[in-house]
Amino acid sequence: MDKSIIDKYEMVIGLEVHAQLQTNSKAYCADGTEFGLSPNVQVSPISLGHPGTLPVMNERSLVYAIKMGIATNCTINKYNAFARKNYFYADLPKGYQITQHTTPICTDGKIKIKVNGEEKYIGITRIHLEEDAGKSIHDIDPFNSLIDLNRAGVPLIEIVSEPDLRSADDAYEYLTYIRKLVRYLDICDGNMEEGSLRCDCNISVRLKGAEKFGTKVEVKNMNSIRNVKRAIEYEMYRQIEMVEKGEWIEMQTRSFNAADGSTFDMRSKEAANDYRYFPEPDLPPVILTDEFIAEAKAEMPALPEELINRFKTEFGLSEYDANVLADEKEIAHYYLQLISFQKNYKSAANWLMVSIKGYLNEKAISISEFPVEAKKISELIDAIDGNKISNTVASQKIFPALIENPTANILDLAKELNVLQESDASAIEELVKQAIAKYPEKVTEYKNGKTSLQGLFVGEVMKLSKGKAEPKIVNQLVNKHLSE
Ligand code: ADP
Ligand code: MG
Repeated sequence: MDKSIIDKYEMVIGLEVHAQLQTNSKAYCADGTEFGLSPNVQVSPISLGHPGTLPVMNERSLVYAIKMGIATNCTINKYNAFARKNYFYADLPKGYQITQHTTPICTDGKIKIKVNGEEKYIGITRIHLEEDAGKSIHDIDPFNSLIDLNRAGVPLIEIVSEPDLRSADDAYEYLTYIRKLVRYLDICDGNMEEGSLRCDCNISVRLKGAEKFGTKVEVKNMNSIRNVKRAIEYEMYRQIEMVEKGEWIEMQTRSFNAADGSTFDMRSKEAANDYRYFPEPDLPPVILTDEFIAEAKAEMPALPEELINRFKTEFGLSEYDANVLADEKEIAHYYLQLISFQKNYKSAANWLMVSIKGYLNEKAISISEFPVEAKKISELIDAIDGNKISNTVASQKIFPALIENPTANILDLAKELNVLQESDASAIEELVKQAIAKYPEKVTEYKNGKTSLQGLFVGEVMKLSKGKAEPKIVNQLVNKHLSE
């Protein structure tokens, strides 16, 4: 499609994100919530919706929802009523979900995202608590659908954004940030592949400058943030093309096909269910106290934005470095630990971002599995800064040796590997004399004004010392001898 046509339009996107809360038990009963167990082992008469069973509120799920609300600058609402959302489906044994309909626990928030260098605020309409349904499995048995009710009743929060996103990139950054927050808060593992974080995209297009939104289409079933972006891009072209042809966009729910990046019609919204919400008679409203909210808040760790600011202002790191280090809470904490021993903040950041992260990526492990303690890495930096070993030797020789032997003494390792830097001036002086004796005609040239030849002699001395001579001393001595 012609770019000039696309440029006439603007996208309007709002996301509904479901995050499975990592509580030990389900939303309204004591069944476990572990992922990946054999089917139907985490069920009880309550999960199975047997008549006469009663739900009981999981207090931790309230704490988790409050934390997310605070992290997204929401108002935390104290009066929390619950409602039944009725629909029939085989993986929903009760025939309804218990959710928060008119009284979501959090409302009116906003978060800041950065898209291609530009900051923008995205409104959070609401965050409410609800329970998950079970799982229907259609692709194991060729003749029957199978049902796993382990997930039935697992607590969720649904985070609904305002229609403030304007591009696939906006949505990508928003979702990345939401995932970062739930991981920082330890309330959800944020794993889209396993479905513990799910995202429905509401997407419409309108002519730039138009006041009214276009008709939205809802797209489901993207199992990664990248696929959310792909789905939005596909919808952009599809919807613009339809509008250009003068066709109506129908209010629809569509599904994403990861194989070719397209979306296809699942059901038209006009025929959507009427959920017949009504107040849940078995679960009385929960009234939150100020103390309860304050306790939830007190449990919260420093959030990425706060850490990024600290890294920049207190430790003088660049915007880029600060962002990389704050990307994961565990990495940020390792950095904080590292600089509790080490005043060379920039070097500490580099070691973490380059050597350590490189190693973690290569081994596909997390920092919690990294064998070397922050204090040891600080000692390594001290050894470099104290001119005991060169940077190159440190990263190529000592660092790998430390991983093999995490408690070893750095200088012992350097001695063992024969890479301790030579700072004994008289030993270096011997080598300088050798280097100068080797190139008498270059010495003459140097003395005739070609001072750039200094590098040649320094290089020769470094070579003679097998890279162990301290460059600063070598430079001084070469200079001294050439000027004699
Ligand atoms: P529904 O009643 O269909 O669930 P809501 O008003 O609750 O619709 O909005 C659901 C999501 O759709 C929200 O994230 C909202 O920001 C987004 N949304 C609403 N209208 C539009 C629109 N015209 N285009 C894109 N997104 C929209
Ligand atoms: Mg809605």
